Amino acid sequence: MIVVERIADLRERCEAARRAGRSVGLVPTMGFFHEGHLSLMRAARAHHDLVVTTIFVNPLQFGETEDLDSYPRDLAADTAAAEAEAVDVLFTPSVPEMYPEPTVTTVHVAGLTEALCGAARPTHFDGVTTVVAKLFSIVGPCTAYFGRKDFQQLAVVRRMAADLDLPVEVVGCPLVREHDGVAMSSRNAYLSPEERRSARGLFAGLRAAAAAVEDGERDAARVRAVLEAETACHGLENEYIEIRRATDLTPIAQLDGEVVVAVAAPVGQARLIDNVTMQIAGAQVSVDLGVITLATQEHTS
Ligand code: AMP
Repeated sequence: MIVVERIADLRERCEAARRAGRSVGLVPTMGFFHEGHLSLMRAARAHHDLVVTTIFVNPLQFGETEDLDSYPRDLAADTAAAEAEAVDVLFTPSVPEMYPEPTVTTVHVAGLTEALCGAARPTHFDGVTTVVAKLFSIVGPCTAYFGRKDFQQLAVVRRMAADLDLPVEVVGCPLVREHDGVAMSSRNAYLSPEERRSARGLFAGLRAAAAAVEDGERDAARVRAVLEAETACHGLENEYIEIRRATDLTPIAQLDGEVVVAVAAPVGQARLIDNVTMQIAGAQVSVDLGVITLATQEHTS
């Protein structure tokens, strides 16, 4: 594995690979790897000749009062983990390398970004789409892997790539959970053992909501109430619960077709998000709660 810090170097390596007829798989991240990140690298490795993983804690996507400075970082552990997943190129640019000038050009995806996480984090998605557009521009034609854990982010990035005709295929990968159902997240490192137990309430709530739908409930308000009640049992006060059409995130009153139930809640210092997707056709319901891994999140306190 080669660690690259310069944009020009990464661009040249990707171009050289494609000139040699090799395909490129890209995994953009903010580092502090866990199984969720590693699952994306494995997906890229399974399908591509050159696997590029990027680590960049992007200041543009953090609000002024958010955790940019305290965001967990461990480049040595991440480098070893990426190497173990047979990543070919690890791109670790500095902030001045990515933003040599104050940013005056940004990418905004209207409509998809105002609700859900965008309501509490109004500048977040512009930061995400701007840095992802830069990474897509640097890496060039490739397949990029994103986790369904960040369901809204995936929808936003997909729409950006389509609207701007970027030569990148955006692939969504399963949400990876710890053995007790808590969605893996770099921010789980902020949780005390007690908060970590409360965090299980998100999974419990989503499971209860999915079970209600499997039992025939189709009314969004009632599914929402089930989720609200279950998370409250775990002492959680949700920032939002949203039930939306999975394809374009439009609000729905009745559950039908492809649906996402998404939730966000503050737990201690962390703001956790989670979701379940469902495919509903008449009485048939197929629930996707992601995958449980036996691997633990090593960094978690
Ligand atoms: P981050 O480093 O948090 O920006 O995440 C980088 C990528 O990993 C994004 O595409 C995330 O959606 C994905 N990711 C983070 N956590 C998980 C998880 N628990 N399961 C699947 N993918 C994840």
